[in-house]
Amino acid sequence: MFAILLVSLLGLAAIVWLASGPARVRLRRQQVRRQPFPKAWREIIKRRIPIFKTLPTHLQLQLKDHIKVFLSEKQFVGCDGLAITDEIRVTIAAQACLLLLNRNTNYYPKLRQILVYPAAFIVDKEQRDGNGLHFQHRAVLLGESWEEGQVILSWQETLKGAADPRDGSNVVIHEFAHQLDQEDGSANGAPPLAHPADYKSWSDTLGREFSALQYCANNGLPSLFSYYGATNPAEFFAVITEVFFEQPDEFLNLHPQLYRELSHYYRLDPLQW
Ligand SMILES: [Zn+2]
Repeated sequence: MFAILLVSLLGLAAIVWLASGPARVRLRRQQVRRQPFPKAWREIIKRRIPIFKTLPTHLQLQLKDHIKVFLSEKQFVGCDGLAITDEIRVTIAAQACLLLLNRNTNYYPKLRQILVYPAAFIVDKEQRDGNGLHFQHRAVLLGESWEEGQVILSWQETLKGAADPRDGSNVVIHEFAHQLDQEDGSANGAPPLAHPADYKSWSDTLGREFSALQYCANNGLPSLFSYYGATNPAEFFAVITEVFFEQPDEFLNLHPQLYRELSHYYRLDPLQW
């Protein structure tokens, strides 16, 4: 009898513990959203994020709420002597949170830290060749997204990406698209979709368009998308996300079905901005 009671109590405690975690997070986020958006942050957005003023008012408000939550949860680390300022935090958060608008989001749940370098940075990479042999090489990077919960960015490139919101190139959007992709495990070009039924048309459309980009890249044919997207399906998703937010008109004209897939996933139509 005592054992049964103990087991029931333990079960109840486990249920309460499980239920209270997400509920606590929701409550804390609600409180953060209720706080006023600092004037200094508004100034930074005005100066650094030109895409902001093109957004409809309800999305501007949503974005500001997301920025508050994002900045209350994510740690920023300056690298190579870079001191982290609000300018850096808000400029990165504003672009990262564009990808969360209108979606049922958990704010990049795996992401813990954003490492920011003053400019391009060098990393030692381990890669595998066609025979499965590992080798080390050095790479100069502008941004990177790690599955262990970090995004690494060049501040110089972050500013450049934000300054021209119509050139189809944005390192923050690119790296945070990888984070979305990595929410359900490794980056493979298929982030978790809202409904199981969505996966078929996602993989049909993205698979076909990925092959088309590979063909363009291999034969030097023009494409709206950077050849870098032909590297693998994960890079393809990140590259088309940059173009979706920054060149929606060309995107819709040239790749209407792909545009609709992304529009459905992001719950946004940047063409209207
Ligand atoms: Zn990438």
